Amino acid sequence: MKGKTVLVTGASAGIGAATAMAFAGEGARVLVCARRLERLQAMEAVLLEAGAAEVFSFELDVRDRDEAEGTLNTLPDGWGDIDVLVNNAGLSRGLTKLWEDDVENWEEMIDTNIKGLLYVTRAVVPKMVKRGSGHVIGLGSVAGYITYANGAVYCATKAAEKAISEGLKLDLMGTPVRVTSVDAGMVESEFSVVRFRGDDERAAKVYQNITPLQPEDVADAIVWAATRPAHVNVHSVVVTSIDQGNSVTFNRRA
Ligand code: NAP
Repeated sequence: MKGKTVLVTGASAGIGAATAMAFAGEGARVLVCARRLERLQAMEAVLLEAGAAEVFSFELDVRDRDEAEGTLNTLPDGWGDIDVLVNNAGLSRGLTKLWEDDVENWEEMIDTNIKGLLYVTRAVVPKMVKRGSGHVIGLGSVAGYITYANGAVYCATKAAEKAISEGLKLDLMGTPVRVTSVDAGMVESEFSVVRFRGDDERAAKVYQNITPLQPEDVADAIVWAATRPAHVNVHSVVVTSIDQGNSVTFNRRA
C-alpha cells in the first residue's frame, strides 16, 4: 500500500478510524472524511505517527449529493486519484417495530447508508476506470443476510449495500477495478450509542456478556482484501466474533 491513496468515509470513529490507522500502518497516503472535522484533524498527527505517507482530512456529509460531488471532484493537487475507496460512513437509528417507527430514522439511514454510498461511489469510480486501477470496499453487515426484529430498515440498507457491491462488480467487468464487501457482525464502536441517540446505558447492554468484534478486527479484513494480488477480487468477507453465529444468534454468557 506504500504511496497508494486511500479514502475512508466516516473516519472520525469506530471502524473508519481503525481502517485509516491500518492503512497508515501500511504506508498509504490517507484521505479521511466525516462530518466531525475536528476529530479528523486531531487524528492527522496520529496517522502520520502510525506510518501514513501523507494525510488529508476534510468535512463531508455523504448525504449531501452536491457536496459529495463537488468536494470529491476538487480534492487538492495529488489527492484526486484514489486507489482504494472505503465506503464506511453509516449508521443505525432506533430499534423499533416498523409500523411504530419514526420516519425520520428511515430517511437518515437510507440517505446515509444507501444514497450517500452511491454518491461517493459515483464521484470516485469514473477516475479509477479511466486510470485502469482501483478498489471499492463497502461496509456490509450480517444484518444484510438475515433481518432481525425491530431493525428492518437498517437491515434493508445493508442488504442494499450487498446488492450495490455485487452490481458494481458486474458493471466493472472488463476493467481492473476491484469490488469487495466486508460484512461484519457486532462491532463495539459508537454504533449503538448513535443508534440509541446517546443512551450510553442502553448501548452498553448490546455488548453485555459477549465478546464483540473490535473496529481493528474489521480494519484488518479490509486491509487484507486490499492487499491481495491485483488479479484477485475478494467479493465478500463475512466476519463475526467467536460469540456470534449470524445476525440473530449470540452466545451470551449470562
Ligand atoms: P460509528 O463508530 O458510529 O462510526 C460511524 C462513522 O460514520 C462516524 O465516523 C461518522 O462520522 C460517520 N458518518 C455517519 N453519518 C455520516 C454522514 N452523513 N456523512 C459522513 N460520515 C458519516 O459506527 P461503526 O460501527 O464504526 O460503523 C461504520 C460502518 O460499519 C457503518 O456503515 C455500519 O453500518 C457498519 N457496520 C457496523 C457494525 C457494528 O456492529 N458496529 C456491524 C456491521 C457493519 P461523523 O458523525 O463525524 O460524520
